[in-house]
Amino acid sequence: YVKMPKLEKYKDEPLDEKFRWVGAAAGGSVPKKKKLRVWCRLPNTDWELGNIHSIKGEDTVVLLSNGNVLRVSTKNLLPVNPDILDDVDDLIKLSYLNEPSVLRTVKCRYSRDMVYTKAGNVLVAINPFKEVPLYGSDLAAAYREKKDNRPHVYAIADSAYNAMMRDGANQSIIISGESGAGKTETAKITMQYLVTLGGRSGIENKVIQTNFILEAFGNAKTSRNDNSSRFGKLTEMQFNDGGKFCGARIQTFLLEKTRVVQRETGERSYHVFYQLCAGASHILKEKLNLKAADEYEYLKQSDCLRISCVDDAQRFHMLMEALNIAHISKEDQENAFTMLAAVLWLGNIEFQVIDAENHVEVVSSEGVTSAAKLMGCEVSELMLALSTRKFHAGKDSIIEKLTLSQAIDTRNALAMSVYVFLFDWLIQKINKSLEVGERQTCRSITILDIYGFESFHRNGFEQICINYANERLQQHFNRHMFKLEQEEYVQDGIDWTTVEFIDNSECLDLFEKRPLGLLSLLDEESSFPEATDLTFINKLKQHLDGNPCFKGEGRGAFRVRHYAGEVLYDTSGFLEKNRDLLHSDYVKLLAHCQLSGLFASYILDRSQDTNLIRQFTSADLLDRSVGSKFKGQLFKLMQCLESTTPHFIRCIKPNNNQLPGMFENEHVLQQLRCCGVLEIVKISKAGYPFRIAHQRFAERYGFLIFENVASEDPLSIAVAVLQKFNVLPEMYQVGYTQLFFSHSTDFCIGEHQKSH
Ligand code: ATP
Ligand code: MG
Repeated sequence: YVKMPKLEKYKDEPLDEKFRWVGAAAGGSVPKKKKLRVWCRLPNTDWELGNIHSIKGEDTVVLLSNGNVLRVSTKNLLPVNPDILDDVDDLIKLSYLNEPSVLRTVKCRYSRDMVYTKAGNVLVAINPFKEVPLYGSDLAAAYREKKDNRPHVYAIADSAYNAMMRDGANQSIIISGESGAGKTETAKITMQYLVTLGGRSGIENKVIQTNFILEAFGNAKTSRNDNSSRFGKLTEMQFNDGGKFCGARIQTFLLEKTRVVQRETGERSYHVFYQLCAGASHILKEKLNLKAADEYEYLKQSDCLRISCVDDAQRFHMLMEALNIAHISKEDQENAFTMLAAVLWLGNIEFQVIDAENHVEVVSSEGVTSAAKLMGCEVSELMLALSTRKFHAGKDSIIEKLTLSQAIDTRNALAMSVYVFLFDWLIQKINKSLEVGERQTCRSITILDIYGFESFHRNGFEQICINYANERLQQHFNRHMFKLEQEEYVQDGIDWTTVEFIDNSECLDLFEKRPLGLLSLLDEESSFPEATDLTFINKLKQHLDGNPCFKGEGRGAFRVRHYAGEVLYDTSGFLEKNRDLLHSDYVKLLAHCQLSGLFASYILDRSQDTNLIRQFTSADLLDRSVGSKFKGQLFKLMQCLESTTPHFIRCIKPNNNQLPGMFENEHVLQQLRCCGVLEIVKISKAGYPFRIAHQRFAERYGFLIFENVASEDPLSIAVAVLQKFNVLPEMYQVGYTQLFFSHSTDFCIGEHQKSH
């Protein structure tokens, strides 16, 4: 220690928001002992290993492992776990529970391709961004036969299945994480495992192949993920009486439709467009008048046509195969491709200004003739629908010419709706194909793969919907992991010190409160034809400024403090997107197009169903705006999840470059914080995951010491058994109705474990 390279005095700054809970979950304070190994917080908030060199009053001088010396106050030091705990498979095994220790454990495991770690009942999965030898039928069998018990998606799927069979209750596996963290891959691994259970049923492959179809139509390359899901997906895996997998049902949420017509530079539209252009046969190309992707405005505008290492033509063949396996008829397949080509050609339609008021006509071009032909309508009809608007005034109808920007909006809106209709129609077809008779299905395991929390440079209406959905899911997670769990302890009267968690109900209130929550205000404003993004932001500021999660900003922006961080939203386009007016003219046009009898009747059904043909009245808008429809869908989703026993998988993205072997500490830590991993470990460590009613316990074990169990009361039997077999008092507690066992008891493990 003679040469002290650098001595910095680290100022004691007040702990910022992020570190609010470090103290609470710090896992013990550091004894001031010379040479003791410690974690030391650096000025840049990273943690570094070091040894205590000397102690001067409140300050400690630490020799860091990188050779630097730092003088810090004690609160910037945390205890270090012994090396032997470096790669524990469950974080509850850590003696000291603190951020740097948790990070070190997952990092250490990650470097050895052990991408799964348990945090109590929650599975933490770090994306390896490379193939790891962790999957396959042999390994799946090992989990099924309980020969392997290392943390794994298979283990979660298996325990969900066992709980379903044992308790007769439906289960859910909720997969969350940011974009590119591995949710979709994890969902597929889960499905792979579940379809094999209970023996072969013949539809396994069909179900697995639907993933490929959905990814082709609903995934795209974004700046974060080359295969980013742009919709939420709920897959109900159905099992019959005997526990054999027998069918599935898919429900989707809010497809990002704007991607079809515009997106950031460097991102792509939906995979299927590029696959079709690259891989269609000669005959199909001719039939659809299909060109190369770079000839379509909708595809070339974002300067990204290819994904490295992906062969779109080959993917198209895989898509055709998947469609065949999923029993989507040839006719339906061709209808779908026709619609895709129609969307592409719509994007090439141009307008020319014909008067001083900027009114337009459609330029007669290959774009409009091809689009009309593919959609099965007259060219003149399509031209009229894209350049005029018809109003009804009493009995008369008035035709008004559109301006350039209105015409472009109409064309784009038409292209987007065709795509959304196509997507929904395809889901319907797939569901038909995966359907099993009502009577056959008995129970189910639902897998949720929904878009993760998003915070971009610019955040708009889509992001606020996505982040709102994540707030709801986070609340579900909190409720099950913290609230219900602790309420049960309190209700049964056992000794318990409450574990605090970050409650997000204030943020949910911000969205949902009536009549003055964000969504209600948005609907109200959307119902005024004169409203603008500016009047909307003013309304928000006026009514929401009291909520601690809201902050109005300049230039039509506002900030929301989400559980996963603050997001700045830009209100431009909010009202328009929320109204999502589908103009009656072109709905009618679409509906009577002869693109295909089936598709057209589907559109008509839908438009009558959901009243897509809207009049500009507030009453109409209030229950049909995109925001409230989404909220309605979310409520249904939550209701459905609430009726199941949840199992949680938290996916973590180790770096922003989609690269293997790269682990960014701060980025990982931020994600671990968002999902409350430390609190989960804390509650699991202190909590009582195994529980059994006195009565049941007495029935099972009473015979070990009593000859006539029936003559004794269950509580006395239970206590006598526990004492007789020397179960340590710190391992259990006796509640009013149940016995509670801590995680260190393997007394009744498996059988009475409370699943999460
Ligand atoms: P988004 O929210 O954008 O849809 P996501 O969380 O669904 O993102 P995935 O698409 O599942 O993310 O994963 C991104 C990429 O990471 C995959 O395309 C794959 O290359 C890789 N990946 C994820 N999980 C695994 C895994 N278990 N093994 C190997 N690679 C993986
Ligand atoms: Mg995904």
